[in-house]
Amino acid sequence: MDTYTYTIGNKIYVNLTNRCSNDCEFCVRRTDAFKEIGLWLEHEPTAEEVINSFENLDAAEEVVFCGYGEPMYRLGVMLEVAEYVKGKGKPTRVNTNGQAALILGEGVPEKLCGKLDTVNVSLNATTAKGYQELCHSEFGEKAFYAMLDFAKECKKYVPKVVFSIVDVVGEEEIARARDIAAAVGVDLRVRRYVR
Ligand code: SF4
Repeated sequence: MDTYTYTIGNKIYVNLTNRCSNDCEFCVRRTDAFKEIGLWLEHEPTAEEVINSFENLDAAEEVVFCGYGEPMYRLGVMLEVAEYVKGKGKPTRVNTNGQAALILGEGVPEKLCGKLDTVNVSLNATTAKGYQELCHSEFGEKAFYAMLDFAKECKKYVPKVVFSIVDVVGEEEIARARDIAAAVGVDLRVRRYVR
C-alpha cells in the first residue's frame, strides 16, 4: 500500500513522488532502508490525500517533504500541503536535490516564500565532476551549478537554507563543502549515511 506520510521520532515525512533527476550512489532507494514503510508509490498523491493521511499532526515538531524521490516534481501539491501545515502552526522543510530550475524552469524559490521554513539542499560533492560521478544527474554537470544557484536564490525567500552532505565522503571533502557553504552563506549539515 502507498505510504504518503510517515513519522520518525517527532517529525512527519511526506512522500510525494518516486521521480528524481538524480540516481545517487548512496540513495536509500538503492538499499533496503525503509523497505517496510512502503515508499514505492503506485499513485502520486493529491494534496487532499496527503492531508488526509496525516496522523497526529498536532504532536509533530516539523513536517518534511522528502520521501523516495525529488519533491519539486510535485511543487503544486507540496505548496498546497505546506500551506495547510503552516496553517496548523507547524514548521515545514523540503529536502531537495536543488535542481528545480532544470526540472521546472526558473522562479521556483519565490514560490516557496511563506510556505517553507527550511530548504535543505543536498550538496553531496564539491565539484561538478565529483557531483556527477556520485549523483548521475540526467542534466549532467550543469546540475551542480544549478543546485548552488538554487540555494543562493532560496536565501532571498526562505528563512533557513542548509546544505547537506553525507559523512562517508571524508574529512577533506567535508572541509571543502564547509567552504562552499560559507561562500553561499548557508550552514552545512553533515548527515549519517543510511544503508
Ligand atoms: S537526489 Fe535524493 S532521491 Fe534523488 S537519487 Fe539522490 S538521494 Fe535519491
